[in-house]
Amino acid sequence: MKIVVLGATGTIGKMSLDVIDKLKDFKLVGVSANVSKDELLKIKRRFPKVKTALSGVKDDEIDFCGENAIEELLYSTLPDQVVVGISGFMGLKHALTASKYAKRLCLANKESIVAGGEFFLKEVEKNDCEILPVDSEHSAVYQLLDGEKSRVKKIILTASGGALRDFPIEKLEHVTPSQVLKHPVWRMGARITVDSATMFNKGLEVMEAHFLFHFEADDIGVMVHPQGKIHAMIELEDGTFKMHVSRADMRIPISYAMNYPKRMNIFEPFSPLGKMELLEADYKRYPALKLAYEILKTGDGARVVYNAADEIAVDAFLKEEIRFTQIYEVVNAVLQNEWPEKLNNYEEIENVDTKAREIAREMIKRWR
Ligand code: MG
Repeated sequence: MKIVVLGATGTIGKMSLDVIDKLKDFKLVGVSANVSKDELLKIKRRFPKVKTALSGVKDDEIDFCGENAIEELLYSTLPDQVVVGISGFMGLKHALTASKYAKRLCLANKESIVAGGEFFLKEVEKNDCEILPVDSEHSAVYQLLDGEKSRVKKIILTASGGALRDFPIEKLEHVTPSQVLKHPVWRMGARITVDSATMFNKGLEVMEAHFLFHFEADDIGVMVHPQGKIHAMIELEDGTFKMHVSRADMRIPISYAMNYPKRMNIFEPFSPLGKMELLEADYKRYPALKLAYEILKTGDGARVVYNAADEIAVDAFLKEEIRFTQIYEVVNAVLQNEWPEKLNNYEEIENVDTKAREIAREMIKRWR
C-alpha cells in the first residue's frame, strides 16, 4: 500500500509516520510540508526513498516546490492513500487534489469538510475516493455506525472542555495564551488547543459530523467528558447508548483510517478503569458551540466564515492582540455581514474565506 502524508511535519503528520513505521504493508512514498524544510529532510533520512514537496518555499534539496508541489508529488508517486494532516482552510484545496489521485483519504483536516460542505463530498465521490475520518470523535462515530442495524436517533461527540473548563467564567477575559495552551488530554497544535478551550473546535466538529454522517444539527449532541476516554456515543431507539472508549492517542484513529476494515495490534494495552464523567456543555462558557448550531442551519457561507474568522482571531489572541473572549466576538461580528447561502465551487468558497479574513483583520486592528 503506497501512502503519502500531507502536512508531514505537523502533529498528525508526525504521528502518521510513527504508525506507518510500524505497518509492514505500508510504504511511505511522499511527504509534504508548507515551509519546514529541515524537518522534511529529516524525514527523508528516516525514509530514504520518500519524495518531498514544499508548497510555501523553494529549495534545491526538495523534489517539488511551489504552488503545484503537492499535485506534482501525487502525480509522481500515485499513492493508494493520502493522509491529509494539513491544518486550516488550505487543507480543502489539497484534499480535493489528493482525491483525484488516491482511493482513500485519511482526513484529519476538518476545515475541508466544514468549508467544502456538500461540494467537497460530491467532488471526492466523483473522483471515486473514500473518506476515512481521522478526527478522533468522528473516527469513533464511524466505528459505532459501522454495522449498526437499527435506527440511530442521535450521535454525541465528547469534548474535554479544554484547559479552562473549571476556570471562573467572569475571569476568562484575562487568560493568557500560555494558560490556554495547557490542554488536559490531547497533544495538539496551537490553534486546535485554543479552539478546544473556546469549543470552536467542537463547533467545527458538529458541522463535520453533519456532513460526514448525514445527521441534522438537532440530532448531534455534545457532552463534556474530562477524562478523554469516551470519544463518541450513539443513541438508539430503546434508550440504549453505545460508547466508543479508547486511549486518547491520535495514532489509534490514524491507524484505523489507514487499515479499515482491519485493526492493528501495534498499541500498548489500555484499561478504561477509573472515573468516566459526562457533563453538560454550558453555552455560557462556550458560546462558540451554540453559534455552530445556529450556523449549521444558515447556509454554506456562514460555515466558511465561522472557520476563517476563527483562524484569524486565534492567531491574534496568540500574538496577544486581542483577549481570549474576543475570539468569539470577532467571529460573531464578522458573521453579521451578508454571506451567500449556497457555494457551488472552490472559487466561490475561497472568495468567502478571503473576504471573511479581511473583515476579521480590519476589526482586530480597530479593536486594539
Ligand atoms: Mg476531535
